[in-house]
Amino acid sequence: MTKLIFLGAPGAGKGTQAQILSQHLGIPHISTGEILREAITTQTPLGIKAKGFVDNGDLVPDELILDLIQERLGEKDAQKGWILDGFPRNVSQADFLVNLLQELNQVCNGVINFDVPDSVLLERLLSRGRKDDNEATISNRLFVYHQQTAPLIEYYKQHQLLINVNGDRELSQISEELETIVKS
Ligand code: ADP
Repeated sequence: MTKLIFLGAPGAGKGTQAQILSQHLGIPHISTGEILREAITTQTPLGIKAKGFVDNGDLVPDELILDLIQERLGEKDAQKGWILDGFPRNVSQADFLVNLLQELNQVCNGVINFDVPDSVLLERLLSRGRKDDNEATISNRLFVYHQQTAPLIEYYKQHQLLINVNGDRELSQISEELETIVKS
């Protein structure tokens, strides 16, 4: 498997695992959160539009994300594989991705869902100390996750792509399981 979506709540550890696995497989790690943070830091037009949403822990409007993903998946290095981390984050983004992959003649091989209890997520996010990791923003991000992103678990189950992984374990245990999964 070389075309994977990583699904999970904020703090579920998908970014860390995506980085490890993408390096291992030699494929791009495409993190919409990182792309947005970089755009905000360098104050590009995208960053300027996205800043308020990211600071509040809200999703940025789809129109800011969809073109960006379309361009990125069309790039040469994305033909042999990718890990999408942080996209899709709602059903309309997932529907968009279905059409986009069809257009690009690409197939997603699996969706890894990182399962972590809310109490553990909260603890992790509070100790991470990223700029958007203050208490008010965190609780909004978890709320937005349950409301908009969690329905994708059922969505991908129905598409027969869902693979559940227990994310409440040691980093290395999770990495090992992911390596086994992608080899299968
Ligand atoms: P986390 O996994 O901790 O929520 P991310 O780095 O994935 O962190 O995302 C940080 C922020 O970037 C989100 O809270 C949201 O504002 C914005 N964002 C990232 N990806 C998307 C997306 N696909 N759609 C809308 N907003 C997004």
